[in-house]
Amino acid sequence: MVKDKIKSLATDYKAEIIANRRHLHAHPELSFHEFKTAAFVEEQLKSFGITKLERKAETGIVALIEGRNPSHKTIALRGDMDALPIIEQNDVPYKSTNTGVMHACGHDVHTASLLGAARILQGLKNDFEGTVKLIFQPGEELIPGGASLMIKDKALENPRPSGIIGQHVMPLIPVGKVGFRKGMYMASADELYITIKGKGGHGAMPETLVDPVLIASHMIVALQQVISRNASPKTPSVLSFGRVEALGATNIIPNEVKIQGTFRTLNEEWRAKAHINMVNIARGIVEGMGGELDFEVRKGYPFLKNAEELTSRAQLAAIDYLGEENVEDLDIWMAAEDFSYYTQEIDGCFYRLGTRNESKGIISGVHTPTFDIDEDALEIGAGLMAWIAVNELEHKL
Ligand SMILES: [Zn+2]
Ligand SMILES: [Zn+2]
Repeated sequence: MVKDKIKSLATDYKAEIIANRRHLHAHPELSFHEFKTAAFVEEQLKSFGITKLERKAETGIVALIEGRNPSHKTIALRGDMDALPIIEQNDVPYKSTNTGVMHACGHDVHTASLLGAARILQGLKNDFEGTVKLIFQPGEELIPGGASLMIKDKALENPRPSGIIGQHVMPLIPVGKVGFRKGMYMASADELYITIKGKGGHGAMPETLVDPVLIASHMIVALQQVISRNASPKTPSVLSFGRVEALGATNIIPNEVKIQGTFRTLNEEWRAKAHINMVNIARGIVEGMGGELDFEVRKGYPFLKNAEELTSRAQLAAIDYLGEENVEDLDIWMAAEDFSYYTQEIDGCFYRLGTRNESKGIISGVHTPTFDIDEDALEIGAGLMAWIAVNELEHKL
């Protein structure tokens, strides 16, 4: 059976996949600067005998593994490759050698796993029908998102995949397990930059001023009604302000107040409407109180919806591969991920790979200087990806 062949190859290649992950971890590169990473990926793919590959969006790579009857169906597998501007604090042999840059979101794991899956699938190309499209993507961590640039550069064309699978490390899930969620999964994320201009002066003479601090206070409170009164209770939405800057003093009212926040939700229509509502409410309050408003909504990634049927099949494939006790159902996650751009174009399934191991002290969250994984996750990350791809190709359109 193909599944057993995949499992045994994943075990055979485990040491190599770990070595690749350590190489990537030690040589992290920032978003859209993945030059050495892309060269490494190309070199690895060629060493497996994969010859159909091309650069997309400068540091991205698309490669094809053609099985029997390649035009039968195409399924895409995606791995992101960029690292974060964080100084690594782990004392490990594979610690970042590029000081100030760290694979703190596990994209080294995603890339090494996808390389592992590629090697497995290349070795089994007579065992499946159809084509596997590998998408090694740059710049997940930075707006506008490498996924949007890969799509612009036609990564989803020629051939067009019927679906796309992505995996992401999850330090909340123990190693050995994976998690899936059908339907709405992750949020859109927009950054809000607001400036309220008033007229500053002596705090003892309010009659001569337009106080931007008081205006800002009213505005922040009023904007919460967008969540409590305008958003449908069925659609998760969150509005948070993490920075309010009023550089006055006990007796000095400043001329202006600057505010920064984030707006997240899981519905594109509501998202667009909420942007208008927020600006209108803010303008009403600020201008009503005599101030001037500058309100910039910097749009981030769209929300991420996992296709019901594709995700069901992938989850069943995971149960088949790992056993029911090792496949969890996930809750909604209000973080954002640029994989969502693919899911706006074609069916997508974004699942989680457990990497936690408390007995080894591996518990840190992503985007922290002590993030690490239990490397046993890599064998699953590679093997399960390959198995989900084959399983999906076997499913008739
Ligand atoms: Zn991240
Ligand atoms: Zn990530």
